[in-house]
Amino acid sequence: ALNVPDKKVDSVCPYCGVGCQLTYNVKDNKILYVEGRDGPANHQRLCVKGRYGFDYAHHPHRLTVPLIRRADAPKRGDFTMDPERVMDVFRPASWEEALALAGGKLKEIRDTYGKKSLAGFGSAKGSNEEAYLFQKLVRTGFGSNNVDHCTRLCHASSVAALLEGIGSGAVSNPVMDVTKAEVVVIIGANPTVNHPVAATWIKNAVKNGTKLILMDPRRSEMARIAHRFLQFKPDTDVALLNAMMHVIVNEGLVDPDFIASRTVGYDELEKNVQSYSPELMAPICGIDADTIRYVARLYATSKASMILWGMGISQHIHGTDNARCLISLTLMTGQIGRAGTGLHPLRGQNNVQGASDAGLIPMMYPDYQRVDNAAAKEKFEKLWGMPLDPQPGLTVVEIMHAIKDGNKEGKIRGMYIMGENPAMSDPDANHAREALAALDHLVVQDIFLTETAYLADVVLPASAFAEKTGTFTNTDRLVQLGRQALDPPGEAKQDLWIIQQMAMQLGLDWNYAHVSDVFDEMRQSMPSIGGITWDRLEREHAVTYPCRTEGDAGQSVVFTDDFPTATGRARFVPADIIPADERPDAQYPMVLITGRQLEHWHTGSMTRRTMVLDAIEPDPVALVHPLDLEEMGGKPGDIVTIESRRGTVSLFARADDSSPRGAVFVPFCYYEAAINMLTNAALDPYGKIPEFKYCAVRMTLG
Ligand code: SF4
Repeated sequence: ALNVPDKKVDSVCPYCGVGCQLTYNVKDNKILYVEGRDGPANHQRLCVKGRYGFDYAHHPHRLTVPLIRRADAPKRGDFTMDPERVMDVFRPASWEEALALAGGKLKEIRDTYGKKSLAGFGSAKGSNEEAYLFQKLVRTGFGSNNVDHCTRLCHASSVAALLEGIGSGAVSNPVMDVTKAEVVVIIGANPTVNHPVAATWIKNAVKNGTKLILMDPRRSEMARIAHRFLQFKPDTDVALLNAMMHVIVNEGLVDPDFIASRTVGYDELEKNVQSYSPELMAPICGIDADTIRYVARLYATSKASMILWGMGISQHIHGTDNARCLISLTLMTGQIGRAGTGLHPLRGQNNVQGASDAGLIPMMYPDYQRVDNAAAKEKFEKLWGMPLDPQPGLTVVEIMHAIKDGNKEGKIRGMYIMGENPAMSDPDANHAREALAALDHLVVQDIFLTETAYLADVVLPASAFAEKTGTFTNTDRLVQLGRQALDPPGEAKQDLWIIQQMAMQLGLDWNYAHVSDVFDEMRQSMPSIGGITWDRLEREHAVTYPCRTEGDAGQSVVFTDDFPTATGRARFVPADIIPADERPDAQYPMVLITGRQLEHWHTGSMTRRTMVLDAIEPDPVALVHPLDLEEMGGKPGDIVTIESRRGTVSLFARADDSSPRGAVFVPFCYYEAAINMLTNAALDPYGKIPEFKYCAVRMTLG
């Protein structure tokens, strides 16, 4: 029978942070179909990406042999996926030659220009073990902390606020706790599109009586079932949240015992919110004072209130301030440390939590141990057997600037990029592309010739998600096992093997025989996962951290007794209104908001090569308010051109009244209309996250 699998392999979904468990049904090294498994986060449910988004692994565009850039090929020029034109730019090479050139040239740059002349981007799509080895390679092989990944573009500001306020950057309660909450607040997130199976649990909770308060400048599908929907004006999060706190403080709805016994800094916060009355903030945020009062009371007085948020909160130059306000709301009402309460920044990629935990960030070793802390540095020097740089490294956008504009000492000249696509995902992507093209040497490890790989000097063909085994940590802090179901095509290799080969080229003597050897080394340095053994993962498939000893069941709700700060107390941090870096004006009168679509994943390299998903959403679209479109004399399906001070794209207009008038929403997955060419690279000063959610544009027909 044609469609009868010859093996079934239990694994997890490669896309979002919900972390749905699934089974690959495989025949002749091809996935035939996928089924949902009874995992803790999904209980057999899958969304359209998890169910149909697997055949990219078999796509003819897969890289199957190492590539070396031809000496006469220009670094710039139109990106192409045409295999024949690709061969005008690259030539095939043996692994031996490609690795010698890739690693040898990086080593030469390091030895000539110093340790800070190199940088690396790892991936939130890779396993924990890949993230751990990659950051170890940069810290020990390159010799600096210039290592980062797409968490910088996603929740870096949330993490900065959480570490500062409550001592831990991860969620306090799992998504499933929405079923135990009386009130759920979702702000700046669209779970139906970005965390679809999580959205189904929220909908089930609402059906059973949970009151959903949805706050967002765009009306998402969740608004249909919301108890209240607050469509506040873009960029006014702090005004709205401070006004809610003003109500809670002045109506005596705070939890004085919680504040007194478990927090510090309340007096300053209380004083700060006095100037944010609902009446004063209503015209700023566009929500009337009565509604602000109503939702503030509801949140504060319910038996269990939980807050979930996404990029709408984090991707602003005041992203850290936005998250600080959410933390303060939670702390002043004591809505944390119990089932159905707490703070849940919904994680984007399937392993963005784990990659950050594993140290794929420039300021922290694994388990958020600071590189500038002498004791932590000594610990890792002992574990890794060499001296380490005590200075935090550069972040994603800072690295792009250090390539183009860095002074002699601070200039980045060589990069190793594994599985990330900054040519599409970075803000002001024209600048990012120019920077990547200006590197003396760029090594890219990926499964497709992405827009970033197209600029590389050496391209190393890697393994797709289903072609390797490793651990992945979902948004709930669940460490889960992804198992190999397929062999990589042609001469493509598993990423762990490639990282180790690169390490050897840089003079490191590594020899991890199995992925579990890497995981064991991680456990030695990461107390949070100390009790999670490989055997246990094989047996139980998923274990929640913190899990400090082998008998520990893992803790899904944290902060029940204290916070992991030096004093055990949480800290209130007041925030004031800071306007967006670039406001609309006469020349650029509209606001651009970027984000994702249900069917496509991030820069589209996987889902746009997936038959079903690409058939549903094949073309780049801009979601424009119907009245704005009409005013321009346009209709749905017309081509519109959107322009900012940094770039221009043309794409199809789709009438969509979920955005407010004057705002246009564009997904960032389409290479033909790479919307990040328009976005602003201005950074939040704490999380160093760019302001993807707000910049000024103009739109014209045609
Ligand atoms: Fe995959 Fe997320 Fe969909 Fe689950 S909800 S199937 S993890 S994309």
